[in-house]
Amino acid sequence: MSFTAQHHQDLPPEEVVTFYDRESGARGIIALHSTTLGPAAGGCRLWRYPDHHTATLDALRLAEGMALKNALAELPFGGGKAVICLPDGPFDRAALFRTFGRQVAALKGRYVTAEDVGTSVTDMSEVATQTRHVAGLPAKGAQPGGDPSPWTALGVMQAMQVAVSHRLGAELSDVTVAVQGLGHVGYALCELLHEAGAKLVVAEPRSEVAARAADRFGAMVMSSRALLSARVDVLAPCALGGVLNARSVAELKASVVCGAANNQLVDDGMAERLAERDVLYAPDFLVNAGGIVNVAGEYLGWRKPEVRRRVLAIGARMKTVLAQAERAGLTPHHAARGIAHDRIAQSPRVQAEAA
Ligand code: NAD
Repeated sequence: MSFTAQHHQDLPPEEVVTFYDRESGARGIIALHSTTLGPAAGGCRLWRYPDHHTATLDALRLAEGMALKNALAELPFGGGKAVICLPDGPFDRAALFRTFGRQVAALKGRYVTAEDVGTSVTDMSEVATQTRHVAGLPAKGAQPGGDPSPWTALGVMQAMQVAVSHRLGAELSDVTVAVQGLGHVGYALCELLHEAGAKLVVAEPRSEVAARAADRFGAMVMSSRALLSARVDVLAPCALGGVLNARSVAELKASVVCGAANNQLVDDGMAERLAERDVLYAPDFLVNAGGIVNVAGEYLGWRKPEVRRRVLAIGARMKTVLAQAERAGLTPHHAARGIAHDRIAQSPRVQAEAA
């Protein structure tokens, strides 16, 4: 894979659709960052936003992250994302997702949706009553499908093994990992790490889930804030984005950051701050691609062994990025961005347009 630094410049999104339906209360945004490599694929988030502007910015940033993630994972997909603003009062959830499904249908395959934070297999089944451009539906037999989170956790494990070996010269059984957020991915990651012999420290606002992790995995439970500066080897952010800011990076004691959350860096400059502090930051959009690989497998009709092969390849990709970063004198985050941008720039469509 070649690498050219000039591709770091970001392009504006191709299309942004906003929708509002008074009857169902559905209000949201679908951002199509890029369809260069294929349909803009990325999940649908249901979240409480203070205002429409904040929701739009979130959709745009997440959609760009999906474009990088899909390109780096060598999937035939561009990048997109949908966010739906959680209504203030009671609402008919099925009707809300049917409205969203009609918006997806109107894009005629330019956008493919699936689950994200706040949405479930049941919600996607409702979307599927309106459009076929949806994945994350209940798995059928040997076909991929269902909740993509266990695949995301498996991919995080592959990247973490490589990062821990590279930075600490250690195995996962030698290290302590702090997992922030024990949701679909975080809990599955704890299961895998526990099996691998890692010691665990966890933070999760749902106290019954944190207590279960303490019981099952012998995990030490901390507040989310304390976890970010805990004396551990690895920090695995698995809740929401933006956790790596000037303050948390300055207080960080972990040598490796490798987790599932999207957009962990509050801005790209944090990648340099982390490198200055000798912290190996494994790029989130590389690390957490397992879920979208499973979504791709479901949408494109691959079989499960193909999904597994591609998810396990996340470890090898992490090695490639670390080697590229060293060669080019870049942070792994910037090296990974460069590789993803190059893949988009070298697509037949971009080459034809440039000719
Ligand atoms: P989830 O909603 O199931 O889990 C998030 C968990 O974080 C919840 O248990 C929540 O209680 C907890 N949490 C919220 N605020 C917290 C805080 N301040 N400190 C600690 N815990 C907190 O979501 P998920 O599907 O597990 O995804 C987690 C992250 O990974 C998200 O950023 C998501 O975008 C990203 N991601 C998920 C997938 C996937 O396959 N599910 C794929 C790629 C990326």
